Amino acid sequence: MMLIIGAGLSGLLTGYFLKKEGIPFKILEARERVGGRINTVYGISNTPVEMGATWFTNQHKHLIALLNELELNYFDQHTDSSVLFQSSNTSPIQSIKIPSQQPSHRIAGGTSHLIESLLQKLDSKDILLNQSVKSIKCYENTVQVITNEVFEVHKVIMAIPPKLWSKRIVFEPALPQQLIDIAQQTHTWMEDSIKIALTYSLPFWEGENLSGTFYSPTGPITELYDHCNHQRTKYALCGFINSSFKNLSYADRRRSVIKQLKDVFGNQAEEFIDYNECVWSEEENTFQPSDEFLYPHQNNGNLIFSNSYFDDKLFISSSESAAEFPGYMDGAVYAAHVVAQKIINTQL
Ligand SMILES: Cc1cc2nc3c(=O)[nH]c(=O)nc-3n(C[C@H](O)[C@H](O)[C@H](O)COP(=O)(O)OP(=O)(O)OC[C@H]3O[C@@H](n4cnc5c(N)ncnc54)[C@H](O)[C@@H]3O)c2cc1C
Repeated sequence: MMLIIGAGLSGLLTGYFLKKEGIPFKILEARERVGGRINTVYGISNTPVEMGATWFTNQHKHLIALLNELELNYFDQHTDSSVLFQSSNTSPIQSIKIPSQQPSHRIAGGTSHLIESLLQKLDSKDILLNQSVKSIKCYENTVQVITNEVFEVHKVIMAIPPKLWSKRIVFEPALPQQLIDIAQQTHTWMEDSIKIALTYSLPFWEGENLSGTFYSPTGPITELYDHCNHQRTKYALCGFINSSFKNLSYADRRRSVIKQLKDVFGNQAEEFIDYNECVWSEEENTFQPSDEFLYPHQNNGNLIFSNSYFDDKLFISSSESAAEFPGYMDGAVYAAHVVAQKIINTQL
């Protein structure tokens, strides 16, 4: 029996590959939901808005191949060469032209469609929620994985960001110190970001010939984009706010976002249906404080993660372990391919 820790994209996809080969497994997930850093929420207007992963490009070929295999559609992010820009929250709003960029895509119906589609391929009894792994004990022929319960298995795949397992899971015997040091200094992509989304009954920005794109280096909103659904029948704006706003209360943060939106788009911005936000640094199953400053993507894809440990009983996955596009959804798909293939090879 294999055990996969984490039901994010990399863990679920590994399960999908193992199931295709008839290899039995269970997935342990700490949260009460699957998807990890992918989380589409719908709200009272049933408009899909992304609190986590959203965009990909034509370079993300592993993800695109998976979407094609699962017959999931995707569409181009609605954009324009004119964007609104505010150099500080007291400066005037300017309309500026930006050079045309390669289009980024979104998954039709929301990124969670990818997660739901993988779930449909798996048996629900193989995915156990509310199971936070606290320790892993390796013996000669078996591995014990301990949550509030004890699971005895043959092999374990850690499909969670390296910083999380290196600081939260106790290993017996201890893992090599070099591996722990590198894992603790491995940046988890977007772990400290704050995503916001507002849904509307009308795309009022279109009436003013605006794309919905807005940038500000200071914030509160630093990046904002049109976030209508692919049929353009549901209307939303979605983006990021400055991470330092995590220190405000929910009410103060929300007030500052709405004030800036009114400054940028006028009074109609206040007529929203839903306000959604996710402060990822409050998500204990994603965020882990670092001992020192880590630059974005630091140690992502480090070769040390491609080794197996405890005599081929412990394998490292997650997007941050991937040799290609680590930190992104494409990296999670790549990591799942690589680790599933290693397991399949050990079964031959
Ligand atoms: C705000 C935000 C925006 C993003 N935007 C984009 C984007 O536009 N494009 C893009 O390509 N990528 C984006 N990403 C990154 C993308 O979400 C990730 O690369 C991808 O989802 C990682 O998948 P994963 O399975 O490797 O890890 P995760 O999604 O982190 O999954 C790990 C899982 O393990 C679980 N877990 C953690 N600890 C334990 C434990 N001790 N025991 C059991 N389970 C545990 C977690 O709950 C989680 O479900 C974004 C991420 C965020 C947060």
